[in-house]
Amino acid sequence: MNEYDSDRMQDLLNLSHGFETVESAEEADLILLNTCSIREKAQEKVFHQLGRWKKLKEKNPDLKIGVGGCVASQEGAKITKRAPYVDLVFGPQTVHRVPTLYENTTKKDSSVIDISFPKTEKFENLPEPTSDGPSAFVSIMEGCNKYCSFCVVPHTRGNEISRSLESIIEEIISLSLKGIREIVLLGQNVNSYRDSKLKTKGLGLSNLIRAVADVEGIDRVSFTTSHPFEFGQDLIDIYTEVPELISHVHLPVQSGSNTILKAMRRRHTRDEYIETINKLKEIRPGISISSDFIVGFPGETEEDFQDTLDLTDEVEYDESFSFIYSPRPNTTAKDLEDTVSPQEKKERLDRLQTKLEQSALSISRRMVGEVSNSLVTGVSKKDPGEFQARTENNKVVIFSCDDQNLIGNFVPVEIVEAKTKSLRGIYRPEC
Ligand code: SAH
Repeated sequence: MNEYDSDRMQDLLNLSHGFETVESAEEADLILLNTCSIREKAQEKVFHQLGRWKKLKEKNPDLKIGVGGCVASQEGAKITKRAPYVDLVFGPQTVHRVPTLYENTTKKDSSVIDISFPKTEKFENLPEPTSDGPSAFVSIMEGCNKYCSFCVVPHTRGNEISRSLESIIEEIISLSLKGIREIVLLGQNVNSYRDSKLKTKGLGLSNLIRAVADVEGIDRVSFTTSHPFEFGQDLIDIYTEVPELISHVHLPVQSGSNTILKAMRRRHTRDEYIETINKLKEIRPGISISSDFIVGFPGETEEDFQDTLDLTDEVEYDESFSFIYSPRPNTTAKDLEDTVSPQEKKERLDRLQTKLEQSALSISRRMVGEVSNSLVTGVSKKDPGEFQARTENNKVVIFSCDDQNLIGNFVPVEIVEAKTKSLRGIYRPEC
């Protein structure tokens, strides 16, 4: 979501003031830092980074520095108190106002702050996304109403707001005319998507997916991030109906222990989660499942943690993300007693990550010999003489081919080798 917001800031400032991106901070007239406050570490990095840029401002007094995103939303004027050389502070919901806010900084001496939550204004005032590959992010909703006890998102991004289905589809049609083949539907909690035009009946995500897949030229659809609590039967069924829907789902579970799930206010049990996964696997054999995990949540015992490890065996996850719990401002868990020692947290994280790496690798190894209809996304980052594509279950595969016109096409690639972060393949046009 932050990547999406940063791209929109670039597009907006380019349209309004002709700003172009430069390679280094030294060359810039305006520096915007788009921040994340999901964990404390991310938040602390903001002030370290600002400290480094302060020196640039001493050399170039015309330089403007802005802070956006969730740390800005959370800290507001405290940012300019701690770093008075910051000219501009804006939250995730006021990204579209950045050109005007920037304009105001050139007119007045004090810093400009706007961290309000105007309802759907942002959606209606952003330029259409630009993209340099065959995939595009399309924002469909923002915010979250779930209030999981550990999570700062509802406090920084606000409550759930959805775009109208009509405007989403309009945007996707226009993207497809520009050659986009894959759409990633984006939101903090996409399962709660409700078409904002139909307030009471509000058609949901499954309906939107069907409409997106129907757009001519769009042959791959995915979504992120979703919450297991709202992964209903209609969304499961859509995997049967819509072949364009990618065979990968990122479904964060956080913990495999019912006690911890309850303390996290996740609103589902371990068994309910497994049931959802099993239904998906039944409909789509070969679907890859990834997740986010938190270790060291207050009260997590070795037994609870063992439940998480067992769950990873049961589900067999593809590449996933795991974190040590970090208490966040305004959340209900923030005052819970920290019962797990720092060393124990680190050890649990290591054990979990080792397991997750092993299971991702064994999924990759099992794919060796398969031919996957893969979307060529560009040239390989490591070797521009090779292509990079994503398989039907969203894994990166690298392969070579003399034909230079493959980018943006779906091509058959035979998987020949499994590496930790990617696969190696051979182009099989005859398949
Ligand atoms: N919408 C997602 C959350 C996205 S945030 C969901 O409902 O699960 C991305 C990930 O950051 C979360 O899934 C969680 O694993 C991690 N995270 C969120 N808050 C955290 C915290 N306070 N401490 C550690 N990790 C956290």
